[in-house]
Amino acid sequence: MQKYNKIINNVFSKNININYDIKTYICGLNFTIVKILTKDFTDKLSKILTKEKKILISGHFNPDGDSLGGSLGLFHVLKKAGFDVSVMMPSDLPGFMKWLPGTENIFLYDKNTSLQAINKADIIFYVDFNDESRTEYAAEDLKKSKAVKVMLDHHPQPSEAIDFIFSDTEMSSASEIVFRFIEMMNLKKYLDKDTATCIFTGIMTDTLNFSVNSSRPETFEVISELLKFGINKDEIYDKVNNNFSLKRLKLIGYLLYEKMQIVPEVNFSYMMISKKELKEFNFQDGDHEGIVNMPLSVSDVKISLIAIENDDFIKISLRSKGNYDVNKLSRKYFNGGGHKNAAGGRIYKSYAKTEEYIVTSVKAFFS
Ligand code: 5GP
Ligand code: MN
Repeated sequence: MQKYNKIINNVFSKNININYDIKTYICGLNFTIVKILTKDFTDKLSKILTKEKKILISGHFNPDGDSLGGSLGLFHVLKKAGFDVSVMMPSDLPGFMKWLPGTENIFLYDKNTSLQAINKADIIFYVDFNDESRTEYAAEDLKKSKAVKVMLDHHPQPSEAIDFIFSDTEMSSASEIVFRFIEMMNLKKYLDKDTATCIFTGIMTDTLNFSVNSSRPETFEVISELLKFGINKDEIYDKVNNNFSLKRLKLIGYLLYEKMQIVPEVNFSYMMISKKELKEFNFQDGDHEGIVNMPLSVSDVKISLIAIENDDFIKISLRSKGNYDVNKLSRKYFNGGGHKNAAGGRIYKSYAKTEEYIVTSVKAFFS
């Protein structure tokens, strides 16, 4: 046992310190580490994952399509297979995701009422995040839980505190990982149209409608399998992308025309939105998602940032093209992280001082 633990530590530290983008690796209950999802891993997990156990699935704070689609996909399959399973989100769903099949089963984390559900869980699945801190207010309770923790994710640098990790940064989405997990756990027979819709939505949203992170043929093998359940791909696209308010469209017009700034030396575009503007345009959680991508349609813009004033901090959202690594930028300057081409973070400064900080940081990082 000691010997294996040592190997794990070596592999982890080697990956984390030397090679920033960790490839697939999985560890099980701190004594197994393998490079792909093997029978050994699934056998060990199958022994623990039994019908009398209470299972909890959690997405991340401000859940996106991937976290929701992956969590609900896994929920549907486990439920149909006869498991005692519930699903929690640390904060509310964005409006354009509320139509997903099964959202009525989700409970939102509340510090007064959710502790019991967390403490009762024997097994907790984390979908689409690499560290418990990404669940924000739920993190403390989740960290304290004695449950066996299983992470299904595709972000770099997964936390070592998790018992079973199935993480691959090359995968399009956590939802693709969920599909492969279902397959390897022999649960594929419980897939149905609702599950397929959830998983498809997760993959579609995280790849920005198959425009990024979707060049691996395996991703389309999964899509092909999902389409066989009779899901309506065009309807899903429509529900996700054409389901916003008129006010959001007007906000986009205002931001692009009045607010967007360009820093040509570093191919950088940014937009700042104050609390007053948010109120004026009735801005909803998740609305920034499509907006931050828009400046990237300009050929010379390689990095796009949107800064949204919150009560206690400024929320940062970043997108980029090619080799401009906004995950590293956000880790260094914006207390955040994410993927190479899509990341987020926070600035704990006044709104007035934030703009200069952003421009200085991006110039320093990319010059
Ligand atoms: P978004 O801009 O949509 O909020 O987030 C884009 C990506 O960055 C997502 O993959 C998300 O998980 C990650 N991300 C967003 N905010 C944070 C944050 O505060 N910390 C970390 N580590 N990742 C974040
Ligand atoms: Mn994701």
